[in-house]
Amino acid sequence: EAKRLGRNTIVCYTSDFHQQAHYRLMLASRLHRALENEEFSLQYQPQICLATGRVIGVEALLRWECPDLAPVSATEFIPILEETGLIVPVGTWVLQQACCQAVAWQRAGMVSLRLSVNISALQFQRGDLAETVRQILAESGLDPALLCLELTESMLMIDTAHAQQKLQELRDLGVSLSLDDFGTGYSSLAYLSRLPVQELKVDRSFIHRLHTTPSDTAVVNTIIAMAQELGLELIAEGVETEEQKQHLLARGCTTIQGFLFSRSLAPEKFAEFIDQGLSDGG
Ligand code: C2E
Ligand code: MG
Ligand code: MG
Ligand code: MG
Repeated sequence: EAKRLGRNTIVCYTSDFHQQAHYRLMLASRLHRALENEEFSLQYQPQICLATGRVIGVEALLRWECPDLAPVSATEFIPILEETGLIVPVGTWVLQQACCQAVAWQRAGMVSLRLSVNISALQFQRGDLAETVRQILAESGLDPALLCLELTESMLMIDTAHAQQKLQELRDLGVSLSLDDFGTGYSSLAYLSRLPVQELKVDRSFIHRLHTTPSDTAVVNTIIAMAQELGLELIAEGVETEEQKQHLLARGCTTIQGFLFSRSLAPEKFAEFIDQGLSDGG
């Protein structure tokens, strides 16, 4: 088979690989200065309660605008922040920025929304995340009950006993914990039931294939049933169609997030979105 594909295929692949590696190195060097150059910003995506149609929460999502590059997506630059360790200081900045924004919105009279912030494995493993969060809550004045940290299964599996303790320290601050991209990892039900998390977030890949791949429909239905059994909140991300929404509603999923309602928005746009009464479901 390799012979039939011929030499060019391999040459092509190799140069492609080198180009990619070169591009990533270039991004990494740009990212080293991005924080001090104030090239990062946050966008906010609403989370909607299916029963009432109201916005009940918001997820902060990191954006990077490098003056001499075309826009680079989060899925592309965040892995590089993780590989280089830059995600630790950048992640702290994200927490500070998002908490201050949430407090500013409250002071401006906006209805209190729960704020979800993504935490990377490195932030969780290294340093003292609980102490960082405690300080940021104190400095910003945000009610801990309004902060939700989004973690992923894989980062909790590495050292279970230690992870449990770290999670409990975070819980003791009064913040809530969510398992992001749920369904893509290998968590067992027994393991999950012991974690002090309050919410599961169904990965958007399952929602995307909800009506095209029967096995994904089964996965989504099972996760919804499981969340109900374990008494966990459930949020479906990446909801793009009315058909997906109706399926989730019928199965008893409580909250959704996705382009059907809104993309992520710059802070001013997000405030307008809430003001326009879209939070009342109309
Ligand atoms: P995530 O935490 O699972 O965030 C949801 C992603 O799905 C976001 O992509 C969001 O824009 C996208 N999304 C939401 N609704 C839809 C939809 O209806 N259709 C589609 N196709 N996509 C939708 P984004 O902003 O590109 O972020 C990608 C990932 O990067 C995030 O996935 C998260 O893992 C990571 N990330 C983003 N911001 C941060 C951050 O501040 N810190 C860390 N550690 N990771 C972050
Ligand atoms: Mg997330
Ligand atoms: Mg996710
Ligand atoms: Mg993700």
